[in-house]
Amino acid sequence: MATTKEQIATSTDFETLDEEFDPASYNFETLALHAGTPPDPTTGAMLTPIYQTTTYRQKCVGKDKGFTYSRSANPTVSALERRLAALEGAEFATCYATGMAATTVLCLALLRGGDRVVISQAVYGGTVRLFSQILAQFGVAAEFVDSSEKEALTEALKKPTRFVFIETPANPTLKLTDISLAAKLSKSADALFVVDNTLLTPALQRPFDLGADVVLHSTTKFIEGHNATVGGALITRDAELHERLAFTRNAIGAIQAPFPAWLTLQGVKTLPLRMVQHSANALLIARFLEEHPRITDVAYPGLESFPKYELAQRQQKTGGALIAFEVEGGVEAGIRLMNEMRLCALAENLGAAETIITHPASMTHADVPPAQRTAAGITDGLVRLSVGLENANDLIADLDQALSR
Ligand code: PLP
Repeated sequence: MATTKEQIATSTDFETLDEEFDPASYNFETLALHAGTPPDPTTGAMLTPIYQTTTYRQKCVGKDKGFTYSRSANPTVSALERRLAALEGAEFATCYATGMAATTVLCLALLRGGDRVVISQAVYGGTVRLFSQILAQFGVAAEFVDSSEKEALTEALKKPTRFVFIETPANPTLKLTDISLAAKLSKSADALFVVDNTLLTPALQRPFDLGADVVLHSTTKFIEGHNATVGGALITRDAELHERLAFTRNAIGAIQAPFPAWLTLQGVKTLPLRMVQHSANALLIARFLEEHPRITDVAYPGLESFPKYELAQRQQKTGGALIAFEVEGGVEAGIRLMNEMRLCALAENLGAAETIITHPASMTHADVPPAQRTAAGITDGLVRLSVGLENANDLIADLDQALSR
């Protein structure tokens, strides 16, 4: 009996399983389950433990096991970082307390007073607020341009630019930017190219294959996917840039805590399946809205009527989970609709298993000045729907009853 146990113990060397795991040998669905998380070397626990510890005992001065203090790095967070890097097809990732903490660290690592950045006109409202109301105080100039238009981007890149930051599809208008084209223009202007891939995730869009230098995520959204955490990530293939990001994260103290990292490791396992179902539901709902007499406008990249449908087909696997639409009767009708929803929750998030309906002008984008909102196509009557994993017929019935009031 003892011999058998010993044999089993020596036949599975947990410590080497991580080294043996080559992400390049596996498909996306497999990586979502296995990348970055070999069994715990001490116990064989299948799930990476929540390393709830501030510090790590050192063998002697100058000799540690790779962890010294959980503001610099934490084993649970590192496991999530390995998995997210593998999913985006990159080598390096750093995880943060929130998506905005990730954007902040990116800026503090790359920008100096006097620098200028070019940003998609339609982006998450918090990104606009960070650049316009915080970074502007330190002499960083942000120019918001319609990155979906080649001419606008080319013109903006005539002036020295430290980095180009795009979000595609854009939150909440769903405007698309051609990633390959924006990457080429950025490179020829000697600007770093950053893609916020929050809305589609690597399950549906692969920015590194199209020329991105950095991919940003609010893991709060589809990556964790269950309305349970806030978190962010910066992913890159550039070792030097990664070191700079990790250094800045440590300097300002923006790392993610181990428990949300652990929850995100569980949530991301079903990302491939969830994104397929989110998209299938969203397409059915977008078609329903398009046919409804009280809906005046529907934007969904999976609809043939979508202005950049051809680009959506080329650049993303499916249309994704988000729909933007307008109700006949403008702002008041839109607000009435949102207040009448029963199953779909009126809330400030997207990307969760539960369907969420949002009024960007008064919620997620309230801090964007009205003129800037208008220029970005965020009208006061715009409704954003983050389609969840409920049965699509139940969601359609909910929209139908709310629209009939
Ligand atoms: N990027 C996008 C596209 C977002 O939608 C959000 C939040 O809504 C963020 C970044 C910021 O992420 P967080 O809310 O996790 O700080």
